[in-house]
Amino acid sequence: MKWKQAQPIVYKQLLTTVEKNRIGHAYLFEGPKGVGKVDAMEFFVQAMVCENKTSGEPCGKCRACIRVANRNDTNFVEVFPDGQQIKIDQIRDLLAEMAKTGMEDGRKIYVIHEADRMNISASNTLLKFLEEPTTEITAILITEKLASILPTIRSRTQIISFKPGSPEMIRHFLENESIPLPLASTASYMTNDAEKAFALAKDEQFAQRRKTVLKLVKAVEAHVQEGLLFVQEEFLPTFKEKADVEEGLDLLLLAYRDLVAVKVNPDSDCAYPEMRSFYQDRALMLSYEQVSKKLEAILQARTNVPRNMNRNLLMEQLVLNLQEGYTFV
Ligand SMILES: [Zn+2]
Repeated sequence: MKWKQAQPIVYKQLLTTVEKNRIGHAYLFEGPKGVGKVDAMEFFVQAMVCENKTSGEPCGKCRACIRVANRNDTNFVEVFPDGQQIKIDQIRDLLAEMAKTGMEDGRKIYVIHEADRMNISASNTLLKFLEEPTTEITAILITEKLASILPTIRSRTQIISFKPGSPEMIRHFLENESIPLPLASTASYMTNDAEKAFALAKDEQFAQRRKTVLKLVKAVEAHVQEGLLFVQEEFLPTFKEKADVEEGLDLLLLAYRDLVAVKVNPDSDCAYPEMRSFYQDRALMLSYEQVSKKLEAILQARTNVPRNMNRNLLMEQLVLNLQEGYTFV
């Protein structure tokens, strides 16, 4: 399962909790979107109920695990926002469900998705419940907005923080998924969401665009005319729509970010590792000021794309700006 590699600390934490049988009354899973919170929740729920676990790890195959996976375990209840909010009636229904003495023994677990969407009366109702913990009930609240959860609720939960993926962590994860290093590196800098990075790295169009951007860098750094020609002949035909140009500029920005990093330290982590020797050569020719002007020029162009500026003009202007500060020797 991919989330375990992306969130090794959380994984260890949950595993130890189950292994040592120190399951608490309430957990708050918080962190950015797409970092594995829901996968981790399902893992944790299975780990709590599994009939056949090994060192805290659920088997995923027993009756209890399968019931959780198929969402037909009456002891496992999930609440989702009803429209924009989670309303008091939803929390009341949930608590009534938890109070039932069912046919099935064992721990009852409830999950509140997007818990930050509980309105104030829903929050207060839940709070009263959390203030009187029952041994056999465990709550898991999930949120991307920790600050929007009532402090009184926060203080009654164990907060489990999911980290945004670092480029290094994501690259490692992608390499484990057999993605070649150059692609894995670039994708790891494009997003801090491991799943999105994986999708990008698998996308043939992305690989093609990446190549086009690197050719642009080489053309621009070689000669302004070459850069202008390349924009017309290859860049614009590849990056047709507004969103495409935005992605193209993000990719271009990474190349110059790499150049700065390599200028500081030749062994720096790169979004385009195969460009390292090119960067090293260019780094000798360019001052920090010159490189930072280039970065500014790309950022400026990036800001102008959503403003519906003519993309042809925008890219030509960018190539010219990338030349400025260049010392002809
Ligand atoms: Zn199991």
